[in-house]
Amino acid sequence: MVEVLRTYPLVIGMDTTYKTNKYGFPFLEIVGVTPTNQNFLIAYAIIKDETTDNYRWVLEKLKMLLGASHINNDVEAHVGKICGNKLNGEYFKNGVWKRIMNATSEDAYNAAVADMEENWSRWTAIMTYVHGTWLKHKEKFLRYETNKVLHFGNRTTCRVESQHSVLKSWLGNSHGALDTVFRKVHAAVENQFIEIKNRLESSRQKHGVKYDGFLFQHLTGRVSHHALHLILEEQKRMWELSVEVYERCGCALLTTHGLPCACTIFTANQGGVGLYIDLIDPFWKTLRIGEGANIPQFLEETAQDADHF
Ligand SMILES: [Zn+2]
Repeated sequence: MVEVLRTYPLVIGMDTTYKTNKYGFPFLEIVGVTPTNQNFLIAYAIIKDETTDNYRWVLEKLKMLLGASHINNDVEAHVGKICGNKLNGEYFKNGVWKRIMNATSEDAYNAAVADMEENWSRWTAIMTYVHGTWLKHKEKFLRYETNKVLHFGNRTTCRVESQHSVLKSWLGNSHGALDTVFRKVHAAVENQFIEIKNRLESSRQKHGVKYDGFLFQHLTGRVSHHALHLILEEQKRMWELSVEVYERCGCALLTTHGLPCACTIFTANQGGVGLYIDLIDPFWKTLRIGEGANIPQFLEETAQDADHF
């Protein structure tokens, strides 16, 4: 699942299951979601009991695995690649980037970003990468950001519950020893990865008649089917809201999913141009996982038109 993790911003839910092993130790599942609306197991832990200390231990390990190393390593590697010099990557990570990551207030964050922009202004590719890949999702990993709720539809409890039933089917009724549990989970995670890849592939290759309208002309093949489905549903809401669409939209789909809300769709309809790809959060557009696939690239609006025609 490392590839999935490296590709998608983290949307995490966690819960525990019992009766997965012969000792009756709780099995802690940490679950994420893909743009194709599939769940995946980010990590799991078998803990001795559900004490605060044990939860803290798991979360600290997870933070080490994902928070610190995941983002920082990615930043170091990309900056190094862009500069054509590994040392620059390290320098960037330990300098301006560290200040951004450690910001404890919005002011401190803004100051750190301004500092980075001033010192690295020459490297526009770095600025594009940092803003487009990470700072855009800052509410998910920066310390002071807790209120924003771009959750891409990850309603924690139901996600984790459905992953639960998947886990049960993986493990069956066996109350095996821990090594049996590890083996089964790892085999199942491999399968889950293949299923995710297949569904992403399908979003890139197949365009259902449902999404044939001019509204979707720039999106099919570039956005997951699930995202198209959500937009189609939102379009129904737009018709219902009718002339009151601007007053009553509320823009929830935009805030929580990074997808065009009813009033945005209405505006696009009026313009007669369809929805442009820029209106879609990169999360929904990242349809490839695996080596070298974690930076999605998008066409300019004019190129989108040219490409379509
Ligand atoms: Zn709106």
